[in-house]
Amino acid sequence: MTEKYLSGRVAVITGSTSGIGLGIARALAGAGAGIMLNGFGEAAAIEALRKEIAGTGVPCAYNGADMSKPADIAGLIEAATRELGKADILVNNAGIQYVAPVGEFPAERWDAIIAINLSAAFHASQAVMAQMRARNWGRIINIASAHGLVASANKSAYVAAKHGIIGLTKVIALETAKTGITCNAICPGWVLTPLVQKQIDDVASRDNISVAKAKDLLVLEKQPSGEFATPEQIGALAAFLCTEHADQIRGASLPVDGGWTAQ
Ligand code: NAD
Repeated sequence: MTEKYLSGRVAVITGSTSGIGLGIARALAGAGAGIMLNGFGEAAAIEALRKEIAGTGVPCAYNGADMSKPADIAGLIEAATRELGKADILVNNAGIQYVAPVGEFPAERWDAIIAINLSAAFHASQAVMAQMRARNWGRIINIASAHGLVASANKSAYVAAKHGIIGLTKVIALETAKTGITCNAICPGWVLTPLVQKQIDDVASRDNISVAKAKDLLVLEKQPSGEFATPEQIGALAAFLCTEHADQIRGASLPVDGGWTAQ
């Protein structure tokens, strides 16, 4: 898609230094939006990403807000508004994972997952709401998961946070239903990113199998297509949700999961 239908819009994408968030940042930049990057990583690598996106002809800035900290989240929206003029697309994407049965799940991992994967979306949405209402246009896109719709063992905090963000998505969609602001959730299945590579490596060493075999097993266990979804596919859906064709998609949870949640 070469049309710059998001020219003049500004998007804040949390956790966009890697994986799905980066795929979304590239897709929205490709449609012409200015981009505020966020996330952790090595300073030089992040600056290279910022330059790469700015090189496509859109304004691009970076803010290192820690999404577990409400004051940092407010600062992220302030920085986008100050440096790029406004924030009219918010993609709540930053997320972490931890895998253990409830009886052994460290309480501090529970707290961190709820803070980053769920509460951050509330704080960021709250911080952008007034300016979106003032312009009567906005897009809030929450990156939930197939685990927002169904559960898996050993992922209590993640599944709780992802079910929670789908609830938050519906409430924001209802509160903004008569405005030009929409709020929706995208529910990816397996996407091959560093977050998933770690789980593949853990399975390979736990079961003493090759990484390639662990990868196949992990995908086939859940995903009838047998294929990973890609950051580009998630990015393209996020970009579509920012078009006028999506004006009446409100409060939806949209799976991109190779059939996982159809079962
Ligand atoms: P990733 O590990 O590649 O990227 C996560 C991003 O979040 C990185 O930029 C990281 O720096 C950032 N981040 C982590 N903690 C942060 C914090 N405290 N403050 C700011 N940024 C922080 O992971 P990913 O797979 O791209 O995951 C992105 C989102 O997609 C997550 O919400 C994840 O739950 C969701 N998701 C991923 C998959 C998958 O299969 N990869 C499936 C469904 C949903």
